[in-house]
Amino acid sequence: MNTIYDIIVIGGGPGGIGVSVESKILGIKKVLLVEKSDNHSQTIRKFYKDQKRVDKDWQGQSVSLDGNIDFFDGTKESTIDYFDSLLDNHLIDAKFNCEVDKVIKTNDIFEVNTNCGNYFTHNIVISVGRMGKPNKPSYNIPPSLRTQVNFNLDKCGNNENIIVIGGGDSAVEYACELSQSNRVTLCYRGASLMRPNPTNKEMFEKFVSENRVTSKLGVDIEGLESEHGKVKVLYSDGTSQVFDRAIYALGGTTPVDFLKKCSVQLDEHGEPIFDENYETKTKGLFIAGDIAFKSGGSIAIALNHGYKIATYILNKI
Ligand SMILES: Cc1cc2nc3c(=O)[nH]c(=O)nc-3n(C[C@H](O)[C@H](O)[C@H](O)COP(=O)(O)OP(=O)(O)OC[C@H]3O[C@@H](n4cnc5c(N)ncnc54)[C@H](O)[C@@H]3O)c2cc1C
Repeated sequence: MNTIYDIIVIGGGPGGIGVSVESKILGIKKVLLVEKSDNHSQTIRKFYKDQKRVDKDWQGQSVSLDGNIDFFDGTKESTIDYFDSLLDNHLIDAKFNCEVDKVIKTNDIFEVNTNCGNYFTHNIVISVGRMGKPNKPSYNIPPSLRTQVNFNLDKCGNNENIIVIGGGDSAVEYACELSQSNRVTLCYRGASLMRPNPTNKEMFEKFVSENRVTSKLGVDIEGLESEHGKVKVLYSDGTSQVFDRAIYALGGTTPVDFLKKCSVQLDEHGEPIFDENYETKTKGLFIAGDIAFKSGGSIAIALNHGYKIATYILNKI
């Protein structure tokens, strides 16, 4: 006989970990967490630089935690360690390298189709984040520049002339970090940086005043060209500059196709429709974490989603 879980959680980031752990703490027994990569928290592992400061109040959003899971300022490494301990201490049944393809609901039971088999559940929570597909610029990236145009810091070396494009916390953190061993320009189309939290704004201003980062605000980029294998940036004011590398830090997109395959109804903007308990139009199907935000969720907010959903499901069963 196939097990029918109380909850299957898709995605092992903060939202998925939050739902799984809160569910176990509240006494829900049959909970399964499925994660497509070889370990939890892929956004943190892949997009955060090593030793990155992790702020509880990310993007200036002050969040108080509702549930049983605590969360505090730390680093990339301490955050991953903390999530390791949550999964271990609460004996979370987690399947890694297990990518969900689609979810089908038949007679109030969901069938979850994955590359490691099919699973059955009464409730399902989708928390797949947005960073599976980072936002790209509207203009084309010339194929010959693909190795020098990046969306995280994986390929960065030292002594390069780098342009970081974006106006949020990630862009500021990338620029300041890279400036330790590279020449860095931060380019944002707005006249000032409004989105970063106060700590990052202050850090940025300090780095600019000390000439460690060049600030290029109030000008948009219209395209990229290859110039002798380097990245030539064409600005909207008619000027251009050549860099060794360009890094876009523009956030991520809603995984529309995946949500459709999981029977999540979307609004006219392609965003999921859900109620105050994060339940979608398909009863028993919830969304959590960054995909419940048009832009800019946070770890603490994702953990709060987990508590809210787990409490609601507990009251149903
Ligand atoms: C550079 C950067 C810096 C940041 N710094 C901070 C900070 O300091 N503080 C803070 O609070 N927030 C920060 N954030 C935001 C924070 O990382 C996100 O809000 C948070 O990770 C969202 O959690 P999530 O669970 O919704 O999604 P994610 O963390 O994106 O996790 C989604 C998980 O789902 C998995 N998955 C995707 N598709 C499938 C599938 N089909 N089947 C199975 N698994 C799947 C992915 O592999 C991934 O592990 C930062 C974000 C970035 C990009």
